[in-house]
Amino acid sequence: MPEGPEIRRAADRIERQIGGRVIDDVWFAFPELAEQAASLIGMRVLRVDTRGKAMLIRFADQRVLYSHNQLYGVWKLHKEDKLPSTRRSLRVRISTEGRCASLFSASDISLWHEDNLTEHPFLSRLGPDLLSQEVTLLQVQQRLSLKQFHRRSLGALLLDQGFVAGLGNYLRSEILFFAHCHPKQRPVDLTEQQRQQLAAQIIETTLQAYQQAGVTNTKPWIEQAIAAGEPRRQWRFSVFERAGLSCHRCGSVIERMMVGSRRLYWCPSCQINAS
Ligand SMILES: [Zn+2]
Repeated sequence: MPEGPEIRRAADRIERQIGGRVIDDVWFAFPELAEQAASLIGMRVLRVDTRGKAMLIRFADQRVLYSHNQLYGVWKLHKEDKLPSTRRSLRVRISTEGRCASLFSASDISLWHEDNLTEHPFLSRLGPDLLSQEVTLLQVQQRLSLKQFHRRSLGALLLDQGFVAGLGNYLRSEILFFAHCHPKQRPVDLTEQQRQQLAAQIIETTLQAYQQAGVTNTKPWIEQAIAAGEPRRQWRFSVFERAGLSCHRCGSVIERMMVGSRRLYWCPSCQINAS
């Protein structure tokens, strides 16, 4: 499943396609949305935001189109006269000055007013989005110490969208490795300085994944891994997908375990549970 950085990159592409432009046609598959389509014609698309894995297309009259792709949804960008060839079912099409963004297969789509958006059942439970909102290091660090989070294992906490929205499975392993944290450690087990380092790593790894299209490894380690013949799906990561290979940092063998029924990769020498 795409994680926050992939969704933010998709949002960027949609924003380049239709952002700032005036809507000349809208089509919705679902009847409750279809009846509102006409009222969007002539409206300008302001920008495209993300909240974790959800996308928010904002219009000039403060309405917001919420969509969540879940496992199947996909946005395709195209010209009005050149429809994408796909057997997927079309759910939304927004046409602006001849440029279109079409959403296929997704089913979680709704139209909101900005003022009511906090009442959205999914959005209201989400933590901050590092790629669409201004979030400081201190804010992330403080979240680690909140009562509802500080006794959770880091392996579970980092996937909780209520902690920080948009973190997913590969980011979890990568963040814990760079922060030298064991997945079973809890925020309460760390020193204040370690919590600060972890918070910094959560931000840094997410940003890097966004800027470098899912690459979270460091440049020297990437070069080493490519020289050793690793394919991209392995060299892009520092530990994820690298079970059985040696740790870039210490040479120990990377291991894989299941946490929250999802796979987690870690180095048993670099990530010690000291508590
Ligand atoms: Zn190591």
